[in-house]
Amino acid sequence: MQQAYQKLARKLEELGQLEQIMGILHWDQEVIMPRGATQARAGQIASLAGVAHEKQTDPQIGELLDQLESGSLSDLDPYELCNIRETRRAYDRETKVPMELVQELAELGSKGHHIWAKAREENKYSDFAPVLERLIELQKQWAHYIEPDQPPYDVLMDIYERDLTVERVDPIFERLKVELVPLIRAIQESDYQPDTSFLQGEFSVAKQEALGRTISEALGFDFNKGRMDVSVHPFCGGADPTDVRITTRYGTDNFMESLFAVIHETGHALYEQGRMERDRALPVSEALTTGIHESQSLFWERMISKQKAFCDHYMELFTETFPDSLKGVNSQAFYEAINICRPTFIRVESDEVTYPMHIILRYEIEKGIFDDTYKVSDLPEVWNNKMQEYLGIRPATDTEGILQDVHWSGGAFGYFPSYTFGAMYACQFYNAMKQETPDLENWIRDGRFQSIRQWLSQKIHVKGKLLSTDALLKEVTGEALSPAHFIAYLKNKYHEIYRLSSSV
Ligand code: ZN
Repeated sequence: MQQAYQKLARKLEELGQLEQIMGILHWDQEVIMPRGATQARAGQIASLAGVAHEKQTDPQIGELLDQLESGSLSDLDPYELCNIRETRRAYDRETKVPMELVQELAELGSKGHHIWAKAREENKYSDFAPVLERLIELQKQWAHYIEPDQPPYDVLMDIYERDLTVERVDPIFERLKVELVPLIRAIQESDYQPDTSFLQGEFSVAKQEALGRTISEALGFDFNKGRMDVSVHPFCGGADPTDVRITTRYGTDNFMESLFAVIHETGHALYEQGRMERDRALPVSEALTTGIHESQSLFWERMISKQKAFCDHYMELFTETFPDSLKGVNSQAFYEAINICRPTFIRVESDEVTYPMHIILRYEIEKGIFDDTYKVSDLPEVWNNKMQEYLGIRPATDTEGILQDVHWSGGAFGYFPSYTFGAMYACQFYNAMKQETPDLENWIRDGRFQSIRQWLSQKIHVKGKLLSTDALLKEVTGEALSPAHFIAYLKNKYHEIYRLSSSV
């Protein structure tokens, strides 16, 4: 058994390293590559992806898996068993789908991206609709090859957030809707609205960068095993836990956008840097799911850095860095200003209270696409009606509505729910930490972030893919995912900020 396992592990390691090279190429493309190299790079990436695919579908992997699964697995440890399990899942996914379908999806995904970008710019949904229609058709076929007995949308969600099904998501999202729609309305109608004027002004990029680096390092980002650069869309990438690269972007009219992007990506980076010591090129050490990854970025961005104690700790540094704007502003006013809640058309610009409504809207549309409730031609209308119902605003253009997100243009359906599941996990993890550490807010006020990072690392980061999401939640928080934590958190926080009566 050990011999077969070692053989498999060597193959997986090679594959893992190819993916790491891909990570560096991707980072290079987004951060420093000359624009003129776009086409050449696309060719390089396609070639490398081809090599990786060949290795992934190597029949020898199939044989080794068969051999291992039919034998006695008692001399393998849980890490090794996890690697076998994960490899089986990936191998089946790569080999069950005919090559022609894989290729058509890849080609239409990249062509679709260009068509979508142009349609969004010109506000012409009708130009994008035929591509969208075909992508949906292809994804239905793909899902059928993977799991012929399951609803296609469940199969697609499972790519990003393992074990999510419509049956599980529906009641959770219904509950969020019932609780959050009235809360959002009450916030909008409140007589008290925080002053945000001091967040606008002139903020030098050099000062923003220094501030971002200071805070990222204080939260625990190891610059010896990571970098921070600039890109159009902030992300966390790189190669392996010793080479984790985050990016942000700077505008000179505010410093919030770059700072919270840095903190968000630092949260992702701490997960990567905190991975287990062994098997670092093997599946077991990798992040559990998209939603759990997002829980780590949101943990730092929302649960930690958007709370009052964090503002208390950093107010002096903020004021010292930007005295023209912040002189005389106290940390309570600052805290209220950074937590302003205002419905907006654009998901990525929305706050933590309205964000879930953007996700639920997309989830309901995706679900309706795949169970044939909605026709592609009806989607802009469906989108606008739901926006009106959930957030009380109606986009005047499709650019501000259905055409705003990149995901569908590349054929990614089922991704969106993982954002809100990440937010709910983050909140539940925070409450568990607070249960164990009643002094948590004082830790934050004193800047003792290392203890927080260690807690997350020991309980979540080093666990890799050893446990299922449900099992991890139970182990860390003592219970399965419950939206009650998230709802109570939002209600308490925003009732206080907006001076609402407790009946909402
Ligand atoms: Zn993220």
